[in-house]
Amino acid sequence: MHYEPLSQALQEHIQKEGPLNIAAFTNTVLAHPQHGYYMRQDPFGTVGDFTTAPEVSQIFGELIAGWIMDIWHKMDKPKAFTLLECGPGRGTLMADILRTCRVMPDIVTALHPVLLELSPVLTRLQHQALRPFTAPGKARQWIETLDALPEDKPVIVIGNEFLDALPVHQLRAANGQWQERAVSYQDGGFCDTYVPAPAERVKQAEPFVTKEQEAVCVEISPARHDFMADLLIHMNRHGGAGLFIDYGHEQHQPGESLQAVHHHRPCPVLEHIGHADLSSHVDFGSLMKQVRAHDGNRFCALAAQGDFLGALGGVQRTEKLVSAAGNPQAKKDMIMAYHRLTHNSQMGALFKVMGFVQGYNINDVAGF
Ligand code: SAH
Repeated sequence: MHYEPLSQALQEHIQKEGPLNIAAFTNTVLAHPQHGYYMRQDPFGTVGDFTTAPEVSQIFGELIAGWIMDIWHKMDKPKAFTLLECGPGRGTLMADILRTCRVMPDIVTALHPVLLELSPVLTRLQHQALRPFTAPGKARQWIETLDALPEDKPVIVIGNEFLDALPVHQLRAANGQWQERAVSYQDGGFCDTYVPAPAERVKQAEPFVTKEQEAVCVEISPARHDFMADLLIHMNRHGGAGLFIDYGHEQHQPGESLQAVHHHRPCPVLEHIGHADLSSHVDFGSLMKQVRAHDGNRFCALAAQGDFLGALGGVQRTEKLVSAAGNPQAKKDMIMAYHRLTHNSQMGALFKVMGFVQGYNINDVAGF
């Protein structure tokens, strides 16, 4: 069953303008100003559709806070910097970071939290989550696009499961022609169709699959690259560092990864429209190439989430929390949560962490 007002809006659009390419479809489903999936609800947790790392354990945010403190020192402790979180969900990660940073009063004074978010529902939850961690007189700022990022300071940017929500196009060759996947509306239902692919997208797909490889799906995400380009331009002017965590690969993988998840179960993309989350694997290899091609002294590396959290002292932190926990069940939960974040059979290998530094000569970054 679809979310009716959204399905109505999509139908009208398709009837007027023709099939919607899969990226435009995804973007409308997730971010339609009134009816989008993220705009209407809190999708996280056991009663929602999916659970993310900050919701699994406070350790995740605490270790990332350690990373931020380390990089701030290596940047020579700028007196003021923007701490930008992209797609902050319920605000749990930022709250855990701000709580942990209290051990270092200088960084608390220097950091100015900025949250990049589209959803009014999630913005409200973020306000609530951050209230206890806001020093009097210290503003927090919500922005919807990177243009609104403060222009007077370096930025340390983080994003967990943000990039996977930005849309992908899916291209393939058929009978010697490039086509792209689109969504049409026929006989009372949404269905897949293919339309000719525009030249600029073919150019982006060609390095990965040749026209002779018929029917092999290539996913490309101009939206992720545009986002990264805007961020890098800002960082070239003001300097900064970034940390993006998501599921994805170091090398581009041919094939389809766009998936829908409804109540913790995968479902077809055209089912439960507006009631299911849509996301796709991040091609970190292409993003790293983009970061490295930009001007500025920079470090850029990728690590598996399990290795990254381990290198930041995850085991030691877990042991501390376990010994402080009040009862055996709480101890067991802490151990299970860390296992879930780091084990190769869980989130440890599938999830990757991309770290980079722009405008500073820093070659040794914690966690990599
Ligand atoms: N980082 C959080 C939430 C991940 S879900 C966590 O780990 O729990 C994706 C988040 O990105 C949501 O907050 C969603 O509203 C936001 N989002 C999705 N697309 C966006 C866009 N184009 N611009 C800004 N925020 C976006």
